[in-house]
Amino acid sequence: MLRALPGQLAAALPYALLLALPAWLVNHVARIPAGLQLFVDNLPLLLSGICVLLAFGFHRGRTLVVALAAGLAYWGMSLAEAVSDNRGVLLFSLAQLALCLNLTLFAFVRERGMLSKFGLTRLGFIALQVAVIAGLVALDSSLLAAVLELQLVDIVWLERLYIPQVILLLLLPALVILIVRNLLQPGATHAAFLAAFLAVVFAAFRPDLPYWDSFYMSAALVILTFGLLQDSYRMAFRDELTGLPARRAMQHKLNTLGNEYAIAMLDVDHFKKFNDTHGHEVGDQVLKMVASHLGAVTGGGTAYRYGGEEFTIIFPRRNIKQCIPHLSKVRENIENYTLVLRRRERPRKAEKGRRQRGRNPPTKRVSVTISIGVAERNQKWTTPRDVMEAADKALYRAKEKGRNQISR
Ligand code: GH3
Ligand code: MG
Ligand code: MG
Repeated sequence: MLRALPGQLAAALPYALLLALPAWLVNHVARIPAGLQLFVDNLPLLLSGICVLLAFGFHRGRTLVVALAAGLAYWGMSLAEAVSDNRGVLLFSLAQLALCLNLTLFAFVRERGMLSKFGLTRLGFIALQVAVIAGLVALDSSLLAAVLELQLVDIVWLERLYIPQVILLLLLPALVILIVRNLLQPGATHAAFLAAFLAVVFAAFRPDLPYWDSFYMSAALVILTFGLLQDSYRMAFRDELTGLPARRAMQHKLNTLGNEYAIAMLDVDHFKKFNDTHGHEVGDQVLKMVASHLGAVTGGGTAYRYGGEEFTIIFPRRNIKQCIPHLSKVRENIENYTLVLRRRERPRKAEKGRRQRGRNPPTKRVSVTISIGVAERNQKWTTPRDVMEAADKALYRAKEKGRNQISR
């Protein structure tokens, strides 16, 4: 997890910018021209519509629901601003709270179709929330108003926020849950839900500044849309099993290569037999292990999953001589790595288990080797396609010569 930290920080950067931008805009754009005021006022609604449409097109039911909820919440917030009494505070707070809780809740819901029974139930759930909030506001209960005014702690800067302390008390655990969710299962959608949560909380910070909430709710929706696009990009360009960039990403890379580069084709040895002996699931685990070694290749190479148990490493601005030591290291690392597998079928009774473990430990050790063919751009092989073909032929020679080696 620590090694991935720079990557995670880079991934967080767009969200940090989107969270800072509204505050900067409000403080630095002196006046919004009259013609644009209506547009800015309705911007979150427009963005909600766009995000809902995109989510529908991309089959992302969770983002669709929260983007819809965000549009509705902003609608509630705008109505609240027109009401100056307790009901305004109540409506604003409930709209904000409901949206934040939805962001946390839907970070835990699995993607399960859009117009399925499940998808429609989700929409019904949002409609129910609208009805409950409308009912509570219409009720205008003095008890609720008193609850919202409760001062639980005496902190000056908390009083300056537009968020009642009771609401903050409910938002805090939701925020913690969402952060933990992100740490345990990182990904563009969860990161976007967390950043959007923060934007929605920030939306209440400065009710005295015009357009503050509109800008922050817009930021929340841009964040959701960004997460949606990033997630879809990842799905298209990353291989799901190994996490390596996929063949499509490799094609993009091939188009950017200059006049000097080397390409290696790699293939797991006797993998069909390995699958037949240990099963497809163990085979998948081994592919993941192999991929993690390939992904860590040094010397400026990038590894891609070409397909099946075949991989490609591209070394831009390198010749064969320069990349062979790095390929050798990867080959050796894989050869020397032993994957320890836990036996799946555990004995039911603990007693029996103990007896069996005494005899043979419930683990299995497996290892594999890979063969590598490498070629470089030269007078004979002038295009990436030529070089790949040459590398493929070299790979064939490595197999012929007995596998677990590099050929050029
Ligand atoms: P060689 O040393 O000549 O490469 O022998 P091989 O058996 O590895 O060669 P071949 O290319 O004929 O077999 C590839 C096998 O890889 C076929 C299939 O069982 C397995 N395979 C391909 N993709 C996957 C995958 O995603 N998961 C698993 N578990 N196995 C895969
Ligand atoms: Mg093969
Ligand atoms: Mg093979």
